[in-house]
Amino acid sequence: MNGKIGLEEHFAIPETLQDSAGFVPPDYWAVLSKRLLDIHDDRLRQMDDNGMEMMILSLNAPAVQAIPDRDKACEIARRANDFLAEQVARRPDRFQAFAALPMQDPDRATAELQRCMKELGFKGALVNGFSQVDTAENAVYYDAPQYADFWATAEQLDAPFYLHPRNPLASWAQIYEGHPWLLGPTWAFGQETAVHALRLMASGLFDRHPKLQIILGHMGEGLPYSIWRVDNRNAWVKVPKAYPAKRPLGDYFRENFHLTTSGNFRTQTLIDALLEVGADRLLFSTDWPFENVDHAATWFDAASISEADRVKIGRGNANRLFKLGL
Ligand code: MN
Repeated sequence: MNGKIGLEEHFAIPETLQDSAGFVPPDYWAVLSKRLLDIHDDRLRQMDDNGMEMMILSLNAPAVQAIPDRDKACEIARRANDFLAEQVARRPDRFQAFAALPMQDPDRATAELQRCMKELGFKGALVNGFSQVDTAENAVYYDAPQYADFWATAEQLDAPFYLHPRNPLASWAQIYEGHPWLLGPTWAFGQETAVHALRLMASGLFDRHPKLQIILGHMGEGLPYSIWRVDNRNAWVKVPKAYPAKRPLGDYFRENFHLTTSGNFRTQTLIDALLEVGADRLLFSTDWPFENVDHAATWFDAASISEADRVKIGRGNANRLFKLGL
């Protein structure tokens, strides 16, 4: 189909480029680094060749989230956002933007989100999992109380928040020791991000902010397949729930989350996600440049779903969620 919109589509600035070096074998790095730094050349050609009208761009990972120094994290986020705003201004018909945010400092992350949404015309934020705050070993997740004002602002600004994966800290990831092949997109990304999303659901965040929308990539990081069991385990045992949220977590998953197809081009998985959250909450994405645009598009254009759903997922839902006016 033509006119597809993607929203997990990454770029790098020189200061964050090396963060992506470990995700491909060294002999592929020349190609990947070139893809990450390019905006208007090969990227646009890939889009043209594969019926993709627009990418909502975001910084690579973990980037800002892995900078424990608050001032430095703020500086890099601001620099990346200013660079991205300039690129979007050159081709606003093909590119829009998600903000990188220095979540290490909740007040300054809130201010940067406000600046990006109100002054730079960004469409939301994309954050790479937990942030390392003050020290490399201090991992902070966003269900923590210091993010109360940040979330209130995100809801008030109508700014969708893309919770993008990163690897767990080595010191917190004993289960992967000796099995480095499980890290990254193979398995650890999904596990890390799914748990973070469940923490947000259970915290009561969406009782306080019912309009807030979180986006997960990779067809929901395994959650469509698992969310029923999260709420229904040992259903014969009547005990009070052990978390602050008022409702079953699946309720929030179906009302406060959108999922993208990034890096997970599998019809069986798409059907499962369709059955759990519905066609209005799924959005096409590729995960360029870590995945190929043609792999995503060739699969999606021929996937065994209705044409009405294909138009929603490929374009209509993004147009509505981000008020693109297309
Ligand atoms: Mn990605």
